[in-house]
Amino acid sequence: MKNENNINKRELPLIPLRGMTIFPNMVVHFDVGRDRSTKALEMASMAESEILLCTQIDAKTENPKEDDFYHTGTIAKIKQMIRLPGGTVRVLVEGLHRGVIQEFIEEEEYLSARVEEFIDEEKDSDETLEIQAAMRVLESEFERYISLNDRISPEELITIKEVEKPGRLADLIASLIDLSTEKAQIIIEAFDFQVRLESLHAILIEEIEILQIERDITKKVQKNISTVQKEHYLKEQLKVIQGELGDGNSIEEEVDEYIEKIKSLQLEEEIEEKVIKEANRLLNISPHSAETGVIRSYLDWIVELPWNIEKEEKIDIKESKKILNEDHYGLEDVKERILEFIAIRKLTKSIKGPILCLVGPPGVGKTSIAKSIARSLNRDFVRMSLGGVRDEAEIRGHRRTYVGAMPGKIISSIRKAGSKNPVFLLDEIDKIGNDYRGDPASGLLEVLDPEQNSTFADHFLDIPFDLSKVLFLTTANTTSTIPAPLLDRMEVIDISSYTEEEKLQIGIRYLVPKQLESHGLKEENIQISEQALRDVINGYTREAGVRNLEREIASLCRKAAKRIVEEDIETVRITTANIENYLGIKKFRQDTLFDENRVGVANGLAWTSVGGTTLSIEVNSIKGEGKVQLTGKLGDVMKESAMAGISFIRSYAEEFDIDEDFYEKKDIHIHVPEGAIPKDGPSAGITIATAVISDLTDIPIDKQVAMTGEITIRGRVLPVGGIKEKVLAAHRLGIKKVIIPDQNKRDLEDIPNKIKNDIEFVLADSMEKVLEHALVRSEE
Ligand code: ADP
Repeated sequence: MKNENNINKRELPLIPLRGMTIFPNMVVHFDVGRDRSTKALEMASMAESEILLCTQIDAKTENPKEDDFYHTGTIAKIKQMIRLPGGTVRVLVEGLHRGVIQEFIEEEEYLSARVEEFIDEEKDSDETLEIQAAMRVLESEFERYISLNDRISPEELITIKEVEKPGRLADLIASLIDLSTEKAQIIIEAFDFQVRLESLHAILIEEIEILQIERDITKKVQKNISTVQKEHYLKEQLKVIQGELGDGNSIEEEVDEYIEKIKSLQLEEEIEEKVIKEANRLLNISPHSAETGVIRSYLDWIVELPWNIEKEEKIDIKESKKILNEDHYGLEDVKERILEFIAIRKLTKSIKGPILCLVGPPGVGKTSIAKSIARSLNRDFVRMSLGGVRDEAEIRGHRRTYVGAMPGKIISSIRKAGSKNPVFLLDEIDKIGNDYRGDPASGLLEVLDPEQNSTFADHFLDIPFDLSKVLFLTTANTTSTIPAPLLDRMEVIDISSYTEEEKLQIGIRYLVPKQLESHGLKEENIQISEQALRDVINGYTREAGVRNLEREIASLCRKAAKRIVEEDIETVRITTANIENYLGIKKFRQDTLFDENRVGVANGLAWTSVGGTTLSIEVNSIKGEGKVQLTGKLGDVMKESAMAGISFIRSYAEEFDIDEDFYEKKDIHIHVPEGAIPKDGPSAGITIATAVISDLTDIPIDKQVAMTGEITIRGRVLPVGGIKEKVLAAHRLGIKKVIIPDQNKRDLEDIPNKIKNDIEFVLADSMEKVLEHALVRSEE
């Protein structure tokens, strides 16, 4: 603040500074070379050691006159002077206060001036709100400045934060930043704190902007340098790789090669043109762009597809029969149907017939039959699983604009097959999904439709591929979940599960020889006794097919091979006695029947997609108010069927000697154990009714009886599916009598004779008949 009280008038020696400004409170050293300046220093040191430092307007002026320097400067105290060689003096000064020249005195040997000294009198009362705000703004701008300027240590910020006086703060910041002499002079000449703070703020903002621009420029330059370097580096690398691969081809050569290959495909003219156009695009885009990769992968797909490669088909029924028999035991009906199918193809010379669908539990030979069909027709074989396919794009591919696009599974399978007329097995067509990603079944319909599939459009290829020569076959575990429009086009061939006898024969005749061969063993190396093989079937596997049986046989072969090599023996014999040494403890115990006839427990028979199983149904009634509770993960149909049974019992209670009010006085709990397995369907109807009646009448159920059949509320027994599978399951359990609906009589024809000898079949049309055979009244 400029007022009379804080102004001292004094005469001081003067040094014009070149290119620098010294602020009050600043301690610096600088070198003094000019004679007049060293003299001034000397004069000063002889008096109070104080001196006026003013900045020259032009640093180059050698002998500054009155108008060559600013008349406002800083009065400083000389702290130290060192004479350097060559006459230069290094001086350490501390800025004290601002000084304004009143009168310039040019002495002979040095300059001096009469000076008005202004002392910043900073009292708390000076700190108006405005000043405080200006201080804060300045501090934060300075922080920004520091973040952009690496030359100032961030520690200075701490010093700044400690300064409470506005004038001093501005001077300190001004002394820290890199200011031109003109800008520094503006601050030196700002006596008023508010003005000083604001002027410095304006300057600081300008400086920050300059720094930012500088920074951007540096960044750009750096980036330019690094992308140029990177590209160069990659190009060099590419050259090395190409050199290694021996293909230093230029893009032109590459495109020529593609075109040559495309021409050899003998595509239709229009399509060929389209593909060649695509190849030529490679010439016009940067070889390093992502698009080049997409085009290359597209062209690679095109040239590798068997557009016109067709294997010559041979249809010879005798030969086909021989091959089917060579590969499969039993399955007489299935083989017969397949031979008929082949014969019709030969006669009509067309494949526009229905599509075969082999339906049966896993491991019964569906895939291997399809392979045999391919072999017997001299066609390639390819298999594609539809299990879990939910997205239409999996069938038809993605458009090329999609990142990482690929052709669909149909086209990739065809490439794998290597010819355009393979036998193409669509596995697990019953497991195809359907959700928001589009309906894969409709894509499949197009694939299977002989009217449409000669121009099958994969989204990725974007040009039609002829699928009309492909022989499609399908497999499924059950027809119930195959979408109806697909099922319509198919001719279903059922393959049911194998009996123990059949498994044994398949094991002896097919699986053991096959595994011996693939393990490099000779027939004399391993002898598996028939009983041991039965043990494998019953103790280590529980399945409808023979997949696990084959796996266990493979495991036996591996272990035998190991012993032969390690112990140098000729033959390994596997018997019932030592089988556990090879396969470990048996995983399954033979299902056993209850030891005694029980009340309220009945043997049901169920059929699942993996074969038949036995199901025991338990009923318990307790005093209550007529509630019926069903537990054991039962589906709605099964629950309804249970209610139908109860309804029947209510109307016929008297005949069964059951208390007529049972449904009011008792709670009935029906439970089907093995709760984790979902169970549904109406076929447990008669079993549930039998168990309830047994419980209410206290008459036990014959433990050797098993049953299946739907019940009506009038007690009639209706037919159900899966009889053969269910009977096989009952046989495994050792059941002696099986009750089936009268209308399922025809299914008995499929039951092997051996089983018919072991089991008595009861054909029931009513609940009376069921109860007659199931309940053990004699024990009453
Ligand atoms: P699926 O396709 O029905 O699940 P696979 O065709 O994969 O069953 O059959 C599993 C294994 O069992 C194959 O090695 C197959 O050769 C063999 N196999 C199945 N059934 C027979 C059979 N009747 N005769 C000979 N081997 C069979």
